[in-house]
Amino acid sequence: MMKLFTSKSITTDYLNCLKEKGLTIGFVPTMGALHEGHLDLVNRSKRENELTVCSIFVNPIQFNNAEDLAKYPRTLERDTMMLEAAGCDLVFSPETAEMYPQGEPVKFNLEFGLLDKVMEGKFRPGHFNGVAIVVKKFFDIIQPTRAYFGKKDFQQLAIIKFMAETLELPVKIIPCETVREADGLAMSSRNMRLTIAERNLALGIYQTLLKVREQAGNIPVRELKAWAIKKIQEIRGMQVEYFEIADKDSLVPIKDWNNKERAVAFAAVFLGDVRLIDNIELFS
Ligand code: AMP
Repeated sequence: MMKLFTSKSITTDYLNCLKEKGLTIGFVPTMGALHEGHLDLVNRSKRENELTVCSIFVNPIQFNNAEDLAKYPRTLERDTMMLEAAGCDLVFSPETAEMYPQGEPVKFNLEFGLLDKVMEGKFRPGHFNGVAIVVKKFFDIIQPTRAYFGKKDFQQLAIIKFMAETLELPVKIIPCETVREADGLAMSSRNMRLTIAERNLALGIYQTLLKVREQAGNIPVRELKAWAIKKIQEIRGMQVEYFEIADKDSLVPIKDWNNKERAVAFAAVFLGDVRLIDNIELFS
């Protein structure tokens, strides 16, 4: 039987007992509204650990837009059924006050340099501060052996890797490939909010990323970026927030193809009022 806990201390006590017996713990943090992408992380954790823990928590402090937070899909009952069927051992699903009993925390005590200033960091101020605070809290509560993060949120993964390394946290961060729909659209909880017409147009983002990968190295970076922005903007209802080609670790935008094997293309696009992100590694 899968456990469903909402209390930090019960979760910590329960897992401590099992850790003392030497069991390895895999951890998959999520905001719920689960799909195959999340389950892929759960399955990987199950293969690599004796116990798998999944958190479901829509973290208010990582939303810089109140409407986005209000509209974020919440499907807890369905999520727990999916996790039970996937063989997850424990779901931790706290209320906001359980995570932030003193009210909303302000600033995570770590300087991320450029990592939280470009792309998502630039357009969603405070987002990664909120992500870092909640993930560090989860790590303290669960004390996982390994934690699983999707490359779909590539910049988030870079932030978490940096945090784990810099603070020397005793957890191994495991990057997982982006899971896509049959037509290539990156799976996302936000896809649920697209109309059928928008859903059919949405694959244009990945198609453009694939074309960028085809042309990478042949066309100057600046021209390729401009081409991609134009291509996405031509799709009905799409508004590009940013399109960037950057180094996979430092996230510094690249200007030429000198270190091309490190290049990743990133897109953030509004389709109606739904914000979608995707990325592709250009040479691997
Ligand atoms: P979220 O619930 O959106 O916060 O995502 C929870 C975790 O699942 C994060 O590590 C995401 O990067 C990961 N994830 C979300 N969508 C996908 C996907 N399509 N493929 C792989 N991982 C994903």
